[in-house]
This record gives sequence, C-alpha cells and structure tokens, in this order.
Amino acid sequence: MPDTKRKIILSGMRPTGKLHLGHFTGALENWVGLQSEYRNYHLVADYHALTTNLDTSMLHENTIDMVIDWLAAGIDPVESPVFRQSMVKEHTELFLLFSMLVTRNRLERNPTLKEQARDLHIESDNLVYGHLGYPVLQASDILLYRANAVPVGEDQLSNVEITREIARRFNREYGEVFPEPEPRLTVFKRLPGLDGADRKMSKSLGNTVLLADTPAEVDAKMRKAVTDPQKLRKNDPGRPDVCLVFTYHQKFNPAETGEIREGCESGALGCVDCKKRCAARISEFLAPHLERRAALEQDRPLVEDILVDGENRARAAARDTMGAVRTAMKLG
Ligand code: ATP
Ligand code: MG
Repeated sequence: MPDTKRKIILSGMRPTGKLHLGHFTGALENWVGLQSEYRNYHLVADYHALTTNLDTSMLHENTIDMVIDWLAAGIDPVESPVFRQSMVKEHTELFLLFSMLVTRNRLERNPTLKEQARDLHIESDNLVYGHLGYPVLQASDILLYRANAVPVGEDQLSNVEITREIARRFNREYGEVFPEPEPRLTVFKRLPGLDGADRKMSKSLGNTVLLADTPAEVDAKMRKAVTDPQKLRKNDPGRPDVCLVFTYHQKFNPAETGEIREGCESGALGCVDCKKRCAARISEFLAPHLERRAALEQDRPLVEDILVDGENRARAAARDTMGAVRTAMKLG
C-alpha cells in the first residue's frame, strides 16, 4: 500500500563522481534528515550531466560512485527509491510537453544558467539547447513525482522557481494536476570552495574536499585553502567572516568557533594552525562515512540492484502521473 499521508520530495544530483562537502551540506544532509518525514525519490540526473560534458565514458562509474556516497550518508533505498533519470522514459515525455510552457526569454534570464556560464566560461554562442532547457527537464523530474518539496543548495533556487512557474502554467491551461513544490534550503546552502569565499565548492572548479578524502588528502587540500587576503603574517588580525576556513569551522567544528574567531581577530591564531585544526575536524567527521563507503565499494553489484529496484518503483509513479497529464491534456 503506498503511503499517501506523507508529502513527497524529489531530489537529484548530476553524476559527476564522488561527492564533495558542498553537496553534503547543501543538499544530501537535508535529504537524509527529511527521509522519515517525507516520501523521498532520489534521482541520478544523468541526462543533466550531458549539459556540461558530452563524454559518457565515465557516466556509469560516476553514477555508482555518487550513489555509494548517498547510501554511505544514510539514504535508505528501501524507503526512498534511488534511480537513473535515463531509465524512466516519462522524464523525456514530460520535458517535451513542458518545453511548450516556458519562453526562451525566461530561460535566458535564469541566474543559475548565467552563473554556470560564467564559472565554466561558456559563451552564449556555444550554449547548447539542452543546457538552456536544463530547468525544464528539472521541472519534469520534480513534477513527474508530484513532489511538494525539493531540498537544494542556493544555486538551484532559480531553477526551482521555473518549476513552480511551469506547474502553475500547466494547471491553469489544463486543470489541476501538479503541486507547486517548495525549495528547502540548509543553513550551509552555499559552501565556498577552497579557492576563495566567492565561488561555490564545485567539482568542475576543482576546489573541493571530497566525502571520500582520507585525512592526509584533507590535510593537503586544506593547506592550500585561500584565507583572508588581508592576513599576510601569522600575527596580523584576520576577518573570520570573509574566510572560507572559518565557514568550514562553523560547520564541522561548531564547539570551537568562539575561540577560533577570537584567535583569528586578535592575531594569536595563525592560518596554518587554524587550517590544521579544521582539517582534523573534517576528517573526524568523514571517518564513519569513509568506513561505510569502503564496505559499499566491495559490493558494487548491490548498488546496481538498488538502482534497478528504484527504477521499477519510480516508473510506476511516473506512469501514473503521465496518465493524469494525458487525460488533462486530452492527448491520444
Ligand atoms: P559540481 O559542479 O561539483 O558537479 P553541481 O552543482 O554540478 O556540482 P549538482 O548535481 O548540480 O552538482 O548539485 C547537486 C546538489 O548539491 C544541488 O542541490 C546543489 O545546489 C548542491 N550543491 C552543489 N554544490 C554546492 C555547494 N558548494 N554548496 C551548497 N550546495 C551545493
Ligand atoms: Mg549544479
């Protein structure tokens, strides 16, 4: 019997391989936390991965690596179907219908697209149609499961807004089929990357700490982290509020933030020590994740089975929605 009382979450990530701390603090942590309150669907956005990388040779391996991180972080695949977007054909069908309900101008104005184009140096002449349509496919991902909530990082807010507009437009045109999903943000909704506080941590920018990094790797990466540019020597006073290392302390070392702030502002605490302490806390936090990850690495066929099972369950829900869409639109 499907549980009809709990509201629905749809959340996805592009399979770009092992996840980083930004994926965790911005989204995954929320997915796990909301798992008992909502019915969760977790989508591997493999079509979306093609928008910025046409090379599919690593897609499968990257999918398994990412799903291992989801499971190691606490996603329960029995409760929450985990599935690949490309294995449920209804996504593309709804994408086509939704593409009639949004203007080109609206998509070109999308701030998420602008940020990505800036960060990845994509000129507008080189932007592919599928990239422009990214939020339309995302709307089909979300609304195919008639999701009420979408836990995302801040960079995704304007995409979710487009989903809401498409849902309203469809309902107005053809009758009430879709809910208007609400975004759900975490406190650390935009974790900066190691290269400065103004760019988000992102795999494509190469400024990440991975959930799979060993203590030695975390340490080495943290040593290179950019800190307050005005704090040049150890005893110079620093400004924790503009320093990304302090943001990481707030998340992974909350008990010591008062002392760290004081030490940084007075100049008593140098950046090298501050980073070392931060790296140690991050590694402590990651230790149980690494252990669960290693166990799952030994059983990749299990991860494949989890996907196939999730796809069967997702397909049933997707067919149901497409039935309602076809009836509302008097198609066929
Ligand atoms: P990458 O560039 O590292 O591949 P991405 O942004 O392409 O990352 P997505 O699959 O688009 O990855 O994002 C998955 C989820 O993780 C989204 O909800 C996104 O908002 C969130 N997220 C990604 N990076 C960060 C970050 N640095 N801080 C907070 N949330 C983030
Ligand atoms: Mg993204």
